Formats: sequence, C-alpha cells, structure tokens
Amino acid sequence: MQTILEETKYIMSKYHIRANKKLGQNFLISDEVVQKIIEDSEIKQDDLIIEIGPGLGTLTKELLEKAGKVICIELDLNMIKILEDRFKLYSNFEIIHQDVLKVDLQKIIKEEKQTGKIKQAKIVANLPYYITTPIIMKLLEEKLDLETITVMVQKEVADRLIAVPGEKNAGAITYSVYYYSDAKEIVEVSKESFIPAPEVTSKVIQFKIRKEPRVQVSNEKKMFNIIKNAFTQRRKTLLNALNNTNIFESKEQGTKIFQELNLQEQVRAEELTLKQFAEITEKLL
Ligand code: SAM
Repeated sequence: MQTILEETKYIMSKYHIRANKKLGQNFLISDEVVQKIIEDSEIKQDDLIIEIGPGLGTLTKELLEKAGKVICIELDLNMIKILEDRFKLYSNFEIIHQDVLKVDLQKIIKEEKQTGKIKQAKIVANLPYYITTPIIMKLLEEKLDLETITVMVQKEVADRLIAVPGEKNAGAITYSVYYYSDAKEIVEVSKESFIPAPEVTSKVIQFKIRKEPRVQVSNEKKMFNIIKNAFTQRRKTLLNALNNTNIFESKEQGTKIFQELNLQEQVRAEELTLKQFAEITEKLL
C-alpha cells in the first residue's frame, strides 16, 4: 500500500502542482496524524462532515469512507480539479469552490439535515494558517448547528484557543472559545509532517460545541466587545483599559462598578473569569 507521502508526491507530479504559499498550502503527509484526526473526529454514517481546505484530498479520502456525506470547501481551482477527478465515484462527495468565509454554512447544514440521512454535522480541517482566527470565529459566532470542530492550527494559536481564561496563554479569543465550547488538544504535529514544511509546529485541537453557553449574559455582543477592548490594552489595569477605550463613561463609573463587583482596582484583563466579564457587561446595560 502507498504511504501518504508517496501518494502526495504522485498527485503533485501528475497535476504539476506546486504548493501555493499565499493560500497556506502545507499538505499533510503523516499517516499517523491523518489516522489520529479521523479517529478522534468519531465519524459516523449519519454524519455530515464539512472539510475546509481539502487541498489534494488526503483527509477527504478517509472522511468519505466513514461519513454519510462530505462537503469540501476549497478556494484553489487547481485543487478542485484534482478532487473532482479523484473522488468522482463517491456519491457522498460534494465540493464548493469558494472562500469559506463567504459560505452560508448554516444553510448547508440545515439542507443536509432535511434529507433525513444526516443527524449531525462536524467540521474537520487542516486549516490555512493565514485565516485561522476568522474561520474559527465564524464557526463559533454563527452558532452553527455543529457537534464538533476538529482542526489543525499552528501551535501558538492552538494554545491560546484551548487555554482556560485566567491561564497564561489566554487572550480575548480564549474567552469566545470558552463561552461556546469545551476545547481540548488532540496531538502536537511536527513541521516534518507536511510538504512543504511550515515554519511553525502545529497542533490538532477539538471544540465540542456546548448546548448552552458557559455563562448567561443579556448581550453577548457587548460582552465580547468589552473583552476585546480589555485585551487591546492588556499591559494596563483593566479599569484604565476600559476607561481609555470608552467602555466606561468615566473613571468614576468604572470604579463604582469594580467596587460593586468586588474587583481590585489593579486587576488586569487576563485575571478575570468569563463570568466576571459577564457581570461587568450586565452593569453597563
Ligand atoms: N487538507 C489538505 C491537507 O491536509 O493536506 C490541505 C491543507 S492546507 C494547510 C489548506 C488548504 O486550504 C489549501 O488547500 C488551500 O488552498 C485552502 N484554502 C486557503 N484559503 C482558503 C479559503 N479562504 N477558503 C477555502 N479554502 C482555502
């Protein structure tokens, strides 16, 4: 049996493919990593899998064997041609030639579920690293009807995404992920597991989408705006950061809210729990 490395080299030479760096093309060539992603995605026959950036189809091939339906979203026309050729005999394969950020995923999931064959939807992807954050935010903020999101991202981003608020790797995005999902690390992946090798180590992580968000807040958008502003000035105290960014009308208003919530005046954004940000939000509504 051919290894993934042999298969990748064969396909690249057959179709005269050179990885397009601008599109974040680093093709996975590790049999073990592919197996790990597939196993941990726990794919069932009544699953819809949406694969973002299928590239040459390395993960796609395995997904097609296990899922009820696989819908791939790929921006590069060169890849589309290869994928259409490679998987034309699979009746559960569909491809969308589009920028994933412009695709109406909610509509796709709804339509597939209406067929009756699909019970749940999952995302599986080795993401293009230049747009990791917008993709993840889209998947979470659009409140898609998803069970899990299993993605390869660069290690530093992974650590921030799966951190618990209050831990050292936390950033504004950590709070969003924590609000919508239970996140965990699946496996660390070396540079040598791809061709061409990226400049950074990678990690596969998984988000299990929560049925209910982790905290109750009357205005989510406002809470995430407060968090974003708090972290744009993370070296300052939270009180100053929220005052400088006009979240508080005045320092007096901020001081009063801090007192009511028993928050120290010197506290910094990264020391707050999600619940405490929710409480500040409620005071400002
Ligand atoms: N899944 C393949 C693998 O594991 O070998 C390829 C992964 S590669 C890191 C990322 C893929 O995302 C590339 O195929 C690239 O063309 C595609 N891509 C880049 N930007 C995209 C976008 N905005 N929308 C959809 N796909 C995109």
